[in-house]
Order: sequence, then C-alpha cells, then structure tokens
Amino acid sequence: TYTIAEPCVDVLDKACIEECPVDCIYEGNRMLYIQPDECVDCGACEPVCPVEAIFYEDDVPDEWSEYVTANIDFFNEV
Ligand code: SF4
Repeated sequence: TYTIAEPCVDVLDKACIEECPVDCIYEGNRMLYIQPDECVDCGACEPVCPVEAIFYEDDVPDEWSEYVTANIDFFNEV
C-alpha cells in the first residue's frame, strides 16, 4: 500500500484524491489518509502531491514511519 506522511499535515491539497482510480484516499482532520485495504498500489497519487507526502510503504523515510501505522489506525478507529 501507499501511505501519506507528515508533509500533508495542515496541507490537504487533495490532488491525489482526483488521481486515485479506486477513491481510497480519505480526509481526516489535519491530513489525508490512504485506506490500505483498498489501495491497489497503482502509484498514481505519488507524483501529483505538491508536497511529496506520499510514499510506497517500503520507501517511507524512517522519521515518518509512524505514519504507516497512522494510516492504518485511522480506518480502524471508525
Ligand atoms: Fe489510490 Fe493508486 Fe495512490 Fe493507492 S497508489 S492511494 S490506489 S492512487
């Protein structure tokens, strides 16, 4: 799955939402989140993010690794 990291916080540009073919990017209070069970790993969202907040799960920088969990938890809480 792809995941959204810290650069999205308080930005919420939403260009990625327009690109996602399966509509699996959802809006939270301060950032957007990718539903990991729905993401088809197409990568379409990554290049359109103006703040480069989107990474394939294996490529998330170490300092933002907690965002992988945050993306999963966001959908488990609802
Ligand atoms: Fe949507 Fe593709 Fe991005 Fe996954 S990788 S969130 S399916 S645009």
